[in-house]
Amino acid sequence: MKLKTKIHLFSTLLMLIVLTLTNIGVYFLFEKMAYDTEYNQLSQRSDELTASLSQMNGKTDPSAVLRAYIPPSGAVRIIGAKEGKSPSVQNVEGIQNFQPHLQGNQRYSIDRYEGVPVLTISVPVIWTDGEVVELQMIHLLNDVKQNLKTLILILVAVTLIAMIPIIMSSIALGRIVTQPIEKLMKTMTHSRQSGTYEKIKVPTEGKDEMAQMGRTFNDMMEQLERNFNQQEQFVSNASHELKTPLTVIESYARLLTRRGFDDRAVAKESIGAILSESVRMKEMIEQLLQLARNDEQVAFQFKQVDIYEQVEMTLQPMRQAYDRKFFLAGEGPVLTMTDPEKLRQLLYILLDNARKYSEKEITISISEDEAHISLAVTDYGKGIPEASLPRIFDRFYRVDEDRNRKTGGTGLGLAIAKELANGLGGELQVESVVGVGTTFRLLLPKERILTES
Ligand code: ADP
Repeated sequence: MKLKTKIHLFSTLLMLIVLTLTNIGVYFLFEKMAYDTEYNQLSQRSDELTASLSQMNGKTDPSAVLRAYIPPSGAVRIIGAKEGKSPSVQNVEGIQNFQPHLQGNQRYSIDRYEGVPVLTISVPVIWTDGEVVELQMIHLLNDVKQNLKTLILILVAVTLIAMIPIIMSSIALGRIVTQPIEKLMKTMTHSRQSGTYEKIKVPTEGKDEMAQMGRTFNDMMEQLERNFNQQEQFVSNASHELKTPLTVIESYARLLTRRGFDDRAVAKESIGAILSESVRMKEMIEQLLQLARNDEQVAFQFKQVDIYEQVEMTLQPMRQAYDRKFFLAGEGPVLTMTDPEKLRQLLYILLDNARKYSEKEITISISEDEAHISLAVTDYGKGIPEASLPRIFDRFYRVDEDRNRKTGGTGLGLAIAKELANGLGGELQVESVVGVGTTFRLLLPKERILTES
């Protein structure tokens, strides 16, 4: 069953139940009030009759007294007087044989006589001979029956008339709720079929849940599109970058097959080139895998560490491996919560770049203010042109000159460094002057803000 039909049926049924229950309540309330009124009137009549009977003497005709107080349709009778002294009067055929269901000491009852409600009041009276007899007044409630019938007709009519706007509003409600959902579904189906990221029209002023749902959907589509484009760009960049070393390897391999076995110099050059390109490719693939893992939001494991000690641990192997001066400025310990492995990996990328793109000494300075710990990696190398600075963290971006020189980089290092910095809750900044040098500054928060849910 469609959602629209479900809403429609449910709200109509609910309103029908509410209306029916209200009507049943109204009916019974009216019935009770009608019986109460009739009871009061008959009770008053019986009081008056009792008073008249008490004033009777031996000569008075009891039937005449009873007739004076007979209800408009019903009967009055005396029960329990001695033989021959049980007068009874009635103005409805056959009512003298009617037996009310008075239980115990009950003084009144409501029964049915030929489908009409009958009210009976029974009171004790002292008869002329001093005996206590029972006076019964019986009243057929024809009017009440008629009124109740009319009331039922009115209530049914009111219910039917009220159902018209109820049904209409439930149809409208169903539409209001399902229209945006239908629109969403149509857009999604169309997006799936056409392979595009379509959005739906949402009123800019709309503040209700439906408008919010529409906006969330549009945001989601936008993000999906952005992610898809990024992935596409990444894959195309990656295949393009991998194609270059593969082409070099292929052409040297061909050269080797053609002339390599006869010419030692050609063989040496070819194998050297194949080796260096393979190493470069391996490095690039490792970095690509690293980026893919970062995309999966590999959990960072934060713990309390001394940053000073971590920097020292990163510098030691660099000093060992390269004939270069690496200085550490600042004082330790500098304690904070961070992921030490990821921090060292990040510093290694920055130090390796500083080494690659400069000839002189390299300095890491640690400093702190109230909110941040700052780690600045400074080199006195060739610097980065101002125009390239905004793109330096893009995947595969390399300054043209370095790309042409084929220094062996991949253009992925800083992209990874930036993602690591984000993962550590920090920020990576760059300052560079061509011909003077470059400083990459990592700002780490002192108090880690918990971003994980
Ligand atoms: P690569 O593998 O090429 O080093 P990166 O992403 O680490 O890739 O760096 C991107 C580019 O930024 C480099 O190709 C280089 O042109 C420039 N660059 C990075 N660090 C420095 C630096 N310390 N000094 C000068 N240029 C740099």
